[in-house]
Amino acid sequence: AIPDGIDVQQESEMPDAPTGADSTPQDHPESGQVEHEEQAVYPPPSEFVQHAVARPSLYEEANRDRLAFWRSRASVLSWKTPFTQTLDWSDPPFAKWFADGTLNACYNCVDRHVEAGHGEQVALLAEYEDGGDARYTYAQLQDEVSRMANVLGDMGVRTGDRVAIYLPMIPEAVIAMLACARIGAPHSVVFGGFSADALRSRIEDAEATAVITADGQYRRGKAMPLKPAVDEALSKGAESIQKVLVVRRTGAEVEWTEGRDVWWHEARESASTEHEPVWVQAEHPLFILYTSGTTGKPKGIVHTTGGYLTQAAYTHRAVFDLKPSSDVYWCTADVGWVTGHTYVVYGPLANRATQVIYEGTPDTPHQGRWWEVVEKYKVSLFYSSPTAIRTAMKWGEEIPGRFDLTSLRLLGSVGESINPEAWRWYHRVIGGGRCPIVDTWWQTETGAIMISPLPGVTSAKPGSAQTPLPGIIADVLNDAGEPVANGDAGYLVLTEPWPSMLRGIWGDEQRFKDTYWSRFPGRYFAGDGAKKDEDGDIWLLGRVDDVMNVSGHRLSTTEIESSLVAHDWVAEAAVVGASDETTGQAVVAFVILREEAIEQVEAAGGAEKAAEELRQHVGREIGPIAKPKKVLVVTELPKTRSGKIMRRLLRDVAENRQVGDTQTLADSSVMDLIQQGFSGSR
Ligand code: ATP
Ligand code: MG
Repeated sequence: AIPDGIDVQQESEMPDAPTGADSTPQDHPESGQVEHEEQAVYPPPSEFVQHAVARPSLYEEANRDRLAFWRSRASVLSWKTPFTQTLDWSDPPFAKWFADGTLNACYNCVDRHVEAGHGEQVALLAEYEDGGDARYTYAQLQDEVSRMANVLGDMGVRTGDRVAIYLPMIPEAVIAMLACARIGAPHSVVFGGFSADALRSRIEDAEATAVITADGQYRRGKAMPLKPAVDEALSKGAESIQKVLVVRRTGAEVEWTEGRDVWWHEARESASTEHEPVWVQAEHPLFILYTSGTTGKPKGIVHTTGGYLTQAAYTHRAVFDLKPSSDVYWCTADVGWVTGHTYVVYGPLANRATQVIYEGTPDTPHQGRWWEVVEKYKVSLFYSSPTAIRTAMKWGEEIPGRFDLTSLRLLGSVGESINPEAWRWYHRVIGGGRCPIVDTWWQTETGAIMISPLPGVTSAKPGSAQTPLPGIIADVLNDAGEPVANGDAGYLVLTEPWPSMLRGIWGDEQRFKDTYWSRFPGRYFAGDGAKKDEDGDIWLLGRVDDVMNVSGHRLSTTEIESSLVAHDWVAEAAVVGASDETTGQAVVAFVILREEAIEQVEAAGGAEKAAEELRQHVGREIGPIAKPKKVLVVTELPKTRSGKIMRRLLRDVAENRQVGDTQTLADSSVMDLIQQGFSGSR
């Protein structure tokens, strides 16, 4: 039997007496109280510090011996064959971690908890859009993943085959990913909102042999078809696909290809709940996942098993302060994104969390839906994105105010920089002024969180991701590849390999080297700009591709956007540099107003007056050079399906070009509206 390694091991590795807020070098003795709005630093409440998973000694341990530190994190997993090597970096940029060990990711996420006596603990609290719900204990999850693994085996899926997963956010999506992991078949999850074409190109790129899908899905109260997109993708190509496993969700009529299509609910009936996991080498690929496509064509990122799972489990436990026996955790990301892989499936389940998964959108049937879910399940740890927070800000704080959110004790953010104003709103309105916020920087490529405050240790600075996690080495470099001094800006790089790092781009070794390792040889360049403040804390400044150059001054998108969001009228902002004859580039801003402010803006003279006021505001806050040449009030911004602002499309508009690749754009009508508004305002 496998001991319950999580509580025992990690807690005994962090034995120090807690360092209270009182002993952190901040002058805010009243930590934990509702702070003053403009407070610069938020020390962790002392109550939180006393029980925190993370201890300052974690940094010391990692600094003493980084590889020993990672070995110790890896030993929290259950290995079939223990590893003896930690890192093989003899052929950079191709890293191997724990390479001679064998394990199974599904076993680590499910079976071992059941074997340790936690079979009755709830793993998944599934909330459907229409208010229906379902729960799965770890024992039930073990039965389901075993059944599906057996069905996939019967369909001919073998270890090493790629399986595409095209499902809504329902428990079967989690089960499908784990079932693939159980047989060592790398999955490629394609977001259920993507088109048949997007699905086809991803299937073709990975040469997947099977697809797992559903008849349909619920979106905004309506049953929408899903399987027809699979049929279309397969009729136009995707010839590697042999079998399609179909989950019944909406009960809609679907076309059926005999011999190819299999109903999950039928196959499940006769499938055994016994299944021996396939023990794979640590470097066996666990999944392929395409990046969000914010800056261009998505890249098929490859992650492997042992290192990925090690960092997923460690970061989930330490950054979210997970107490497996008492917390209810909810990450709002779809499994179609890396956040849904690492912080819905692999991290939380490896750590034996009890978590909510929610099928629908935040505003169906009403704009308080998420907060209703928090109240219903007494969610204690909540992980979401700046775009969601800014949307909630736009709708107004009386909406979350209708729900009991006192169960929350920690909040997280990922995907973009969180503007300080949005951070304070999140802290005050959602967190009741008492919850630490973790602003987590990472990427599909990094596999897991890399830069983030540690709750209970770090005093948080709104808008800054702050510190590389223990075990991670990051830096900010100048053009010449030298570290910048505190106070200066440059390029964010990772200077040492980390366990959950991407092992490559699927089928394109050269693109892997060119994209990440050529700008600063030997170091991983993330594509993001960053600044080190006077304390050495890291502030993300936006994509280097988006940095603007106005009369020789380099301006950060994030800083100007945050200044706009800091204005009472503005909920959301996107700025781009548009080529300009006199200044090289000129700042063009697109803003969404808060609903609460619309009347005020009308009273102040409408959109044009508002634009002038906002220009002056940025001039005052940052300096005249940053003043947008143009401010356009819009009702929506172009975003990826994962919620990130696609500035490259706005730049196309601002420079009167044909709008570029919109395959990953959430709502294509948005661009038409913005274009009309832009040409109308000229
Ligand atoms: P593509 O690589 O296809 O252009 P993408 O970079 O948006 O798409 P992801 O891997 O989903 O794809 O996103 C990673 C990026 O998200 C980071 O490089 C960074 O720009 C941004 N990001 C994530 N978290 C944060 C954060 N906490 N603060 C600032 N930026 C963040
Ligand atoms: Mg990227």
